[in-house]
Amino acid sequence: MTAAASIELGQFRITPVSDGTLATSIDVVLGLDRPVAQNLASADPTGGITIPVTSFLVQGPDGANVLIDAGSGTQMQATLGRLPDQLRALGVGPEAITHILLTHVHPDHANGLIDEAGAAIFPNAELLISTDEADFWQRAPRGPEPPNLVRQRARNTRNLAPYLDRLRRVPDGGQALGFTAMLTPGHTPGHTCWRLDTPSGSLLSWGDIVHIASIQLARPDAGVTYDLDAERARAARARILDMVATDRLLVAGAHVTEPGLGAITRAGTGYRFEPIV
Ligand SMILES: [Zn+2]
Repeated sequence: MTAAASIELGQFRITPVSDGTLATSIDVVLGLDRPVAQNLASADPTGGITIPVTSFLVQGPDGANVLIDAGSGTQMQATLGRLPDQLRALGVGPEAITHILLTHVHPDHANGLIDEAGAAIFPNAELLISTDEADFWQRAPRGPEPPNLVRQRARNTRNLAPYLDRLRRVPDGGQALGFTAMLTPGHTPGHTCWRLDTPSGSLLSWGDIVHIASIQLARPDAGVTYDLDAERARAARARILDMVATDRLLVAGAHVTEPGLGAITRAGTGYRFEPIV
């Protein structure tokens, strides 16, 4: 990733920063016939696909270096965890990041907060998370949970630990650093899109509104097994896709075609992503 991919929006400069690629499978797709999913995603014969994992650096007029999502760290897959080096290549190393906005606390967005020893990768960054998301992961569960959620809770406790003295909760509709938090629950209970409005246009950093873009833009009704509440995720996806297409918002997507900045247009009964850089 080079600085050439940057765009200017008002007084902000936005640069996609790749963390690498995530190997996954159409097996995670819900609510869609397998051959349809296989075809849309151009999956290999076993159903294997690769999706990008992208963070975004937003540099403001006041010297703020805001990072949207913190990458996957080095423990998930060998093809991930490149974010710190990519930031250094841009001349904005992890120590220069002043704020991190998380769309949600899933491994491919938050494991990159810490190194193997559990220390903060971003030693000077304030961490901003939606109030709902922070509450869900930080409060004791109301009852027994499936093992994968138990593991994720333990991992998130570790991910957030070095940031607890500089963690800011932002409620739905709350504002911070020029962004407005838009709660879009479903994928996780506090999944949040961060909207940046400027006189020159608006950007929506939409996290995992789509997780497998090749499938879920064409068929927004299709969910993924990572959705903690698939019905609410589907409703959020429908609402946000309609909004960005109608209002012509620029989208910064964690898992859309690299480098991940573009517009969403309607295409038949679904949508299409049109990259702008
Ligand atoms: Zn994700």
